[in-house]
Amino acid sequence: MAVTVLIVEDEEKIGRFLELELLHEGYEVMKAADGREGLEKAQSGKADLVVLDVMLPELNGFEVLRRLRKNSDIPVIMLTARDEVMDKVAGLDGGADDYMTKPFAIEELLARIRLVLKKRGGGASVTGQDKNQLKVGKLCMDVQRYEVSYDGKQVELTHREFELLKVLLENKNIVISRDTLLEKVCGYDYMGETNIIDVYVRYLRSKLDDVFQVKIIQTVRGVGYCIKDEN
Ligand code: CA
Repeated sequence: MAVTVLIVEDEEKIGRFLELELLHEGYEVMKAADGREGLEKAQSGKADLVVLDVMLPELNGFEVLRRLRKNSDIPVIMLTARDEVMDKVAGLDGGADDYMTKPFAIEELLARIRLVLKKRGGGASVTGQDKNQLKVGKLCMDVQRYEVSYDGKQVELTHREFELLKVLLENKNIVISRDTLLEKVCGYDYMGETNIIDVYVRYLRSKLDDVFQVKIIQTVRGVGYCIKDEN
């Protein structure tokens, strides 16, 4: 059965664009143009995932999410404008599965949709794997203990190196843009050097790739970085 995505977005152009892209990817699409209609459709049980804009007439996205979470755990990806970044924190606290900052690359949204569906759908059946453990090949991160090892050997990372590696591991096989990494690792209010992510990637490589003679973090030219599953 096809997966149905509900798009809650009042800007018709964006809504239509998302609809076409999602249809093209084989999803079924429902649309709502304001928060109240969005909430109703999200609660109808007919959608499998909600793409929810924050700025909406009637009820804003956060209010929709808050009400929705009282009786539904349907996956939600929030869309926020760049100057609404403060809201993102509230969005994730409020039970959103992920968020995207406008403007975004459609490929990234599609990748996040797949990831959220996979996490939610297959979560429990992944042979009870500890969700605090992120693994790719011999690289293992214990999120709770804040530890990283390669082939059983401990690797000492700084806070930001750890956070960067975590984002890449959580999104493995997905290319993450430098902008997204910058936001997730350094925070929305980061005002420093924009090439800081490249610098941290270099540090990570010096502690992992150089030491263990491997190539863990892939550079995707002009886009960003990615950690790929070896199989
Ligand atoms: Ca809007």
